[in-house]
Amino acid sequence: MKKLLFGALVLSFMSACNSDNISNQEEISQESGASANLTASKRSCPSDHIREKALQKDPALRARFEANELQAENFTRDLQMGKVLPDGTVEIPVVFNVIYNTSGQNVSDARIAEQIAVLNADYGATNSDINKIPAAFQSSAAGNVKISFKLVATNRKQSSKTAWRSDLEEMKKSTTGGINATDPTKNMNIWVVNSILDEDNQPGTLGYAYYPESAGLWYDGLVIGYQYIGKTGASAPFNLGRTVTHEVGHYLNLPHLWGSSNTGCQTDYSNDTPTSPGPNYGTPSYPLNRVCGGVSRSQMFMNYMDYVDDKAMFMFSANQKTRMQAVVAAAGPRAGLR
Ligand SMILES: [Zn+2]
Repeated sequence: MKKLLFGALVLSFMSACNSDNISNQEEISQESGASANLTASKRSCPSDHIREKALQKDPALRARFEANELQAENFTRDLQMGKVLPDGTVEIPVVFNVIYNTSGQNVSDARIAEQIAVLNADYGATNSDINKIPAAFQSSAAGNVKISFKLVATNRKQSSKTAWRSDLEEMKKSTTGGINATDPTKNMNIWVVNSILDEDNQPGTLGYAYYPESAGLWYDGLVIGYQYIGKTGASAPFNLGRTVTHEVGHYLNLPHLWGSSNTGCQTDYSNDTPTSPGPNYGTPSYPLNRVCGGVSRSQMFMNYMDYVDDKAMFMFSANQKTRMQAVVAAAGPRAGLR
């Protein structure tokens, strides 16, 4: 819509210019005639007039003109935000909103820094356990996803609440005892709470996140139990910061390997992750074959989008990388993060 509007503005501006241009030319020719002098007395340049005639005649040329203007607009925005690094990596600004009851639940700045470092290692493929990827899956490994993370703010608030329901989202509004998101169109907000209960008041949720269709809404972002932030003092076997790695995957449009429903054997929209009937837990041994539709496949249980322990997950696939890149691309649903 923005592009179309811009195009319309340029067009109307150009036609306005054109009429000026014609009257200028008439003026000049009158003056020239009067003085019989070929030297201009007033500056005149017909480039826009020539361009407009060419654009009217040639739709392909017009398309290139519009694409160039859009590219210039995006380039300018990227420079202003300063979030696309020279190698093309998109650096996502991260805001932590820590809501705690006891001081032990008030995760330290050091632990938050550890969490950011884990994200940058896992998404940059510099995690120390990446060499554990089985040979059969190495050709489909993502490598550097080219998305990085930068802590821009940490907000803290004490609360008398000892648990937070995932379906109520009270942690995300100051009026319900939480902390309002910091502009979720431009920042990835992570709320850290002492305990997450599901809609039936049951514990067991480590974290959850919203997919890109919720980009920029007041509740957009991640919610993570304080026990699973960073490494130091985190709760084994979820003490390597990978709950956040997994939830950021959802935030960047990756479903679980078995698809978005609990029935399993559904698509995760990445054709390089073998179809899976459901989650794997703990620390499975490779190879692990499971069946979907009568076909047995070796499972990529070491993918961050499975349910295994932190130390058993250490890769994204190449298709998953492409999907995440699409989300933060200039025309993607989370372009505002750039
Ligand atoms: Zn998940």
